[in-house]
Amino acid sequence: MTFDLTPEQDQLRDAVRALGRRYGHGYFVEKAKAGEHTTELWAEAGQLGYLGVNIPTEYGGGGGGITDLAIVCEELAAAGCPLLLLVVSPAIVATVLTRHGTEEQRKKHLPGLADGSQKIVFAITEPEAGSNFHRLGTVARRDGDGWLLSGRKCYISGVDEADHVLVVARTEDAATGRLKPALFLVPTDAAGLTRSKLDMEIVSPENQFLLYLDDVRLPADALVGESLDAGLPALFAGLNPERITVAAMGAGTGRYAIERASEYTATRKVWGGRTIGSHQGVSHPLAHAAVQVELARLMIQKAATLYDAGRDLEAGVAGNMAKYAAGEAAALAVDTAVQALGGAGMTTEYGVATLLGAVRAGRIAPVSREMILNFVAQHVLGQDKSY
Ligand SMILES: Cc1cc2nc3c(=O)[nH]c(=O)nc-3n(C[C@H](O)[C@H](O)[C@H](O)COP(=O)(O)OP(=O)(O)OC[C@H]3O[C@@H](n4cnc5c(N)ncnc54)[C@H](O)[C@@H]3O)c2cc1C
Repeated sequence: MTFDLTPEQDQLRDAVRALGRRYGHGYFVEKAKAGEHTTELWAEAGQLGYLGVNIPTEYGGGGGGITDLAIVCEELAAAGCPLLLLVVSPAIVATVLTRHGTEEQRKKHLPGLADGSQKIVFAITEPEAGSNFHRLGTVARRDGDGWLLSGRKCYISGVDEADHVLVVARTEDAATGRLKPALFLVPTDAAGLTRSKLDMEIVSPENQFLLYLDDVRLPADALVGESLDAGLPALFAGLNPERITVAAMGAGTGRYAIERASEYTATRKVWGGRTIGSHQGVSHPLAHAAVQVELARLMIQKAATLYDAGRDLEAGVAGNMAKYAAGEAAALAVDTAVQALGGAGMTTEYGVATLLGAVRAGRIAPVSREMILNFVAQHVLGQDKSY
């Protein structure tokens, strides 16, 4: 067992940290409040190869694994730039296409995902189905050689920044019962695809949308994979990378908040010569949060290592646990940091309260803490399903 990164991964961590710090949380908040995107940061990360670290070299990527992409997610978040679309475009979509796309799909999309010139977002959630994917109602009907897609999706991140959406649907002849998914690459400018922006209480340069698909006509090659049988494994292929990278983003956000608070409490004095950090009522909650974040990081490392070793089932358990732990730790760390800063904690200037909405959402999305507990109860503890 080793807890060391490879020299290349150490270099990647240092380089991404330097990039993130050059932009910083001020940039992230400024973009969010102006209703703009972190276009410059995304482009630079793409040019430097950080967005494609996990994409095979023959498609323009770095040929690394999810461990590498988790480093990118964590370090940008630790610099105050938690970019949700990293979890969607390079983690979920690039993995799905690498593992289950056709050769044409890989050639067409992976180089752009790797250098950041292309973003593909991911749409599974539906208003009626919610956490129960077996109730998905987006249906694909045969239309000559191609397909007609109809349905509704909600909370879909980044549609306004992407050229395609990877839509999870089901075919007409498998429209009820256990989910037999079919995944489609839908251009965001396709006729029949419309969107409306949701007002979210999250300070983020990335937006969420309702998507309406009204008989969206797609060519045969919009279907991901060689046949309809590719749907289920393709959907599952995206889950572990999603869990692991969103956990890494949470851990990075937790580190960022604790660092901000520690700097503040180590210098702020309101009782004579003592710093407020010398009061254990202030330092212990921060230390407790630091322990929780570090424990989550350990689980992320385990999950990513198992995943990169091809041990998908074990990575599934570890990835879910890592996501749970990191989601809770990030929420605790940001809340604790706000408290430790007092009034300054609620200002925009000190840059911690600006993360409250994001870390709260991290306990709901992309998979809620309750659904992870259901997974662990069922698959680790052998309990019956209640739902
Ligand atoms: C910021 C943000 C970004 C998102 N981005 C995307 C995206 O890009 N693409 C996408 O497809 N989706 C996205 N989502 C959607 C997200 O994945 C869902 O919100 C999440 O999976 C929960 O589904 P729901 O909102 O329908 O909640 P529901 O399923 O309605 O659940 C509501 C509550 O009930 C609990 N619950 C439900 N069933 C059970 C059960 N059986 N046992 C115990 N508790 C249960 C849930 O845990 C939750 O707390 C995003 C959401 C947010 C907030």
